[in-house]
Amino acid sequence: MTDSTAQSFQITLLPGDGIGPEIMAVAVNVLKQIGEQEGIKFDFTEAPIGGVAIDTTGVPLPKDTLSICRQSDAVLLASIGGYKWDSLPRSQRPETGLLGLRAGLGLFANLRPATILPQLLEASSLKPEVVEGVDIMVVRELTGGIYFGQPKGIFETEDSDQRGVSTMAYTGKEIDRIGRVAFETAQKRQGRLCSVDKANVLEVSQLWRDRITALSKSYTDVELSHLYVDNAAMQLVRAPKQFDTIVTGNLFGDILSDAAAMLTGSIGMLPSASLGESGPGVYEPVHGSAPDIAGQDKANPLAQVLSAAMMLRYGLDRPATADRIEQAVLSVLDQGYRTGDIMSEGMKVVGCKAMGEALQTALSS
Ligand code: NAD
Repeated sequence: MTDSTAQSFQITLLPGDGIGPEIMAVAVNVLKQIGEQEGIKFDFTEAPIGGVAIDTTGVPLPKDTLSICRQSDAVLLASIGGYKWDSLPRSQRPETGLLGLRAGLGLFANLRPATILPQLLEASSLKPEVVEGVDIMVVRELTGGIYFGQPKGIFETEDSDQRGVSTMAYTGKEIDRIGRVAFETAQKRQGRLCSVDKANVLEVSQLWRDRITALSKSYTDVELSHLYVDNAAMQLVRAPKQFDTIVTGNLFGDILSDAAAMLTGSIGMLPSASLGESGPGVYEPVHGSAPDIAGQDKANPLAQVLSAAMMLRYGLDRPATADRIEQAVLSVLDQGYRTGDIMSEGMKVVGCKAMGEALQTALSS
C-alpha cells in the first residue's frame, strides 16, 4: 500500500497481446485525465510481456520487464496470448510469462469482484430478482494449496497401476497472510466476511477455519461467517446477495470466483487485482486477449478501466478517485453506450475508442 498523501505514482503498463493495446490506451487516457483533474502525477513505463515479448526478446517475461514492475507502485496489465504462439512449448508460451510475473512479485492474493450493474441486469443467466444488487468480492489465495503442495505427480505403483497425487497443504502463516488481506478488504466494503472451506472433511481446512477464526479477534468490526464449499457454491447461485466478501483457498477460489463472476454475465466488464505482501500489485481484466476481435476497435475497454479503478483503490490508496472512475462507467452505461459484447435492444453500439471518449466526456462533466 502506497502513502495516501503521495501525489506521484510510477505505473508499469503491460499492454500485452490481442485487444490488450486497444483497451490499455483507453485506461491510460482515463488515468491521465483524472490525474490532471486531481493533481495526481502518473509516470507510465510500458514493457513487453506475453506474445509481444516472445517476438521481440524470445521470452514471455523478459528480466527487464520484471525489474521495471518491481520498481513501480503498481502494474496495470491488459491481456496476453493468441493463436500465433499456441503451438510453442509450455515454457515459451505467453501464459508462462503471466505465471512468472505472479511468482516474481509474490502475488498471493487475488481479488475478483462480481458486481451486477443495474444497466446490465439482463446479461445474467439468472433471474433479475436473484442477481439485482449483487456486489461480491472473492479473495482467493493464489500461491499455495493444492496447485503447489508436495508431493505431486503421477507415480507407478508396485502392482503396475498408476497413482495421481496432488497435495492440499497450507501453513498457518499462509492462511493468516491471506486472511489479513480478506479482513482488510471487508473493512473497505460492507464489513462482512465469509470464509469458505471443507473443514468437515479436510484437515487442511480445519486449520484454515481455526486460523481465520483466531484472526477475526483483531478485526472486531468485521462480521465473520464460515461455509463449506459445497454449500457456498449452492448459495452463490441460490441467493448471491447474502455475500459481501468471500475468502478461500486456491482451488475453491478458482472455481467460486468464476461462478461468482458469471453471475454478472459479461466478461468484458470484470476487473481483478493480485496483491503481494509488499511491493506492487497487478491489476488486470479477467478476460483474455480476444484474438477474434483484436485490431477491429470492437473490444470492451470497461474491465480494463475498472482494473485501473481497483489499482487506485487497493494499490494507491485513492478510493475517492476510484469511485469517480466507477461512476463514469455507470454514467456511460446509463447513457446507453454499449460495445458489441454487452449490446442489447435500444442501446447505442460503439467501438472501443468511442467508449473511451464517452468515458472522458463523463469524467469532465
Ligand atoms: P478471451 O477472454 O480472450 O475471449 C473469450 C470470448 O470473449 C471471445 O469471444 C472474445 O471476443 C470475448 N471477449 C473477451 N474480452 C472481451 C472484451 N474486452 N470485449 C469484447 N469481447 C471480449 O478467452 P479465450 O478466447 O479463451 O482466450 C484467448 C487468448 O487469451 C488465449 O491465448 C488465452 O490463453 C488468453 N488468455 C489470457 C488471459 C490473461 O491475459 N490473463 C486470460 C484468459 C485467456
